[in-house]
Amino acid sequence: MAKTEPGPHNFVFGNYAPARESKDHFKIKKSYDLFIGGKWVKASKKFETINPATGEVIAKVGEAGKKEVGQAVKAARKAFEGEWGQLSGAERGKYLFRIARLIQERSRELAVVESMDGGKPIRESRDVDIPLVAAHFFYHAGWADKLDYAFPGVKPKPLGVVGQVIPWNFPLLMAAWKIAPALACGNTVVLKPAETTPLTVLKLAEIFEDAGLPPGTVNIVTGAGETGQALIEHPDVDKIAFTGSTAVGKAIRRAIAGTDKKFTLELGGKAANIVFEDAPINEAVEGILNGIFFNQGHVCCAGSRLFVQESIADKVIKKLKKRMETLIVGDPLDKNTDIGAINSAEQLERIKVLVKAGEREGACIWQPEGRLPRKGNWFKPTLFTECAQSHRIVQEEIFGPVLAIQTFRTPQEALEKANNTPYGLSGGVWTDKGSKIFKMTTGLKAGVVWANTFNKFDPTSPFGGYKESGIGREGGVHGLAAYLNF
Ligand code: NAP
Ligand code: MG
Repeated sequence: MAKTEPGPHNFVFGNYAPARESKDHFKIKKSYDLFIGGKWVKASKKFETINPATGEVIAKVGEAGKKEVGQAVKAARKAFEGEWGQLSGAERGKYLFRIARLIQERSRELAVVESMDGGKPIRESRDVDIPLVAAHFFYHAGWADKLDYAFPGVKPKPLGVVGQVIPWNFPLLMAAWKIAPALACGNTVVLKPAETTPLTVLKLAEIFEDAGLPPGTVNIVTGAGETGQALIEHPDVDKIAFTGSTAVGKAIRRAIAGTDKKFTLELGGKAANIVFEDAPINEAVEGILNGIFFNQGHVCCAGSRLFVQESIADKVIKKLKKRMETLIVGDPLDKNTDIGAINSAEQLERIKVLVKAGEREGACIWQPEGRLPRKGNWFKPTLFTECAQSHRIVQEEIFGPVLAIQTFRTPQEALEKANNTPYGLSGGVWTDKGSKIFKMTTGLKAGVVWANTFNKFDPTSPFGGYKESGIGREGGVHGLAAYLNF
């Protein structure tokens, strides 16, 4: 494989001419305030948001304390009891359609900012994240005046003020998953983005302004975990919608115990991707790669445990390694890039600790050759063979580009191994037999199971987990129900 020195574009594995997306068609302000009651409100403190590919500071962002969170909840309550709460479903739908179109108009800007702030490859932010963001607003715009048809005979009502806390792996997409259904159902929102990726959500607030959304309908409070905690603990919040780690999900359940707050929790995962000997091997190899290396593996439903039928294991692993040698790791803004930067130094450290544990516990590590850029946070696409069910890399969520491979002989053995996890978010099955697909999809204890594909998302399709992967569903009619009283 070609080895190149790190060039001016951090372009490392592979030997292609750079094809960099430009940054000169939009502005990022030096400093952002909080978006409360339709106004930009100064926070008493600020923090920096960093580009994980370069280590450079992109902008300063307000840090909302208890006081500002309180102001935001008050503004949301006022909007719920006032202008937004009085609107008909059809009028709410018009706002959502307008927001969806404005997202499409600014999609190039949003994609570049998403890649700068979070490190994901521009190909993914441009072709997956932002189109799905618009799709979520379009889809829910269509429901806003049809809730009586979605739930016939029950006259559903909005819940009130919704507090939403989201992670850093799909910053704008998670905001869309949360805000669009809440508004379609007539609620108002206070949302806290993750500390490392606040920028696209702040740009979304600009879009809300441009759309003329009534003040207070959506409020954005940036900050770290304490800001999220203040929002969750606020007594005037009617529902909590959280996406993040299982540890924080458990803390939230403890914090709201004894209150009548409603909640949905979308937590971690450790998906099994199961490949049978009758699967189309080349397609399966692409599906395995997409399953674990999409978004640097920072994906709750990532196919991080691969189970290959023993008879084809050597062949599949050989093909996987060959294909991994062609993956391009480097500058997220380069259109050639397959794997971008790890979202934060903290996350990189977490990945390294677990990979070391994998080696220490006896699994066999393999990584392609090639050098990583000197500046920024990077990790090579990695696979482990000789894994045991008890290994930490098999049991714990790594949330990075690291695949743990095991083999199996019978469908029953695959099911038993696949379900031997505290998580239950997603899974994948590769085979040419419909009957095997049905056996596996009904046997896997996971909220979403893909057959002969992986990591496919659609706003019409409910998403969510079993066991420690969470409670409740987002997307589709199930997702609407979570924002309504019956
Ligand atoms: P995290 O630490 O749980 O953070 C998620 C969000 O909660 C962030 O906005 C975080 O703020 C905030 N937060 C932290 N402590 C809090 C507290 N005590 N009270 C309220 N909010 C608090 O998770 P992460 O490490 O950022 O994200 C990765 C995790 O999310 C993974 O486990 C992944 O599987 C999961 N995830 C799940 C889904 C799904 O749909 N099931 C989707 C994406 C990600 P700061 O960022 O500022 O600390
Ligand atoms: Mg950042």
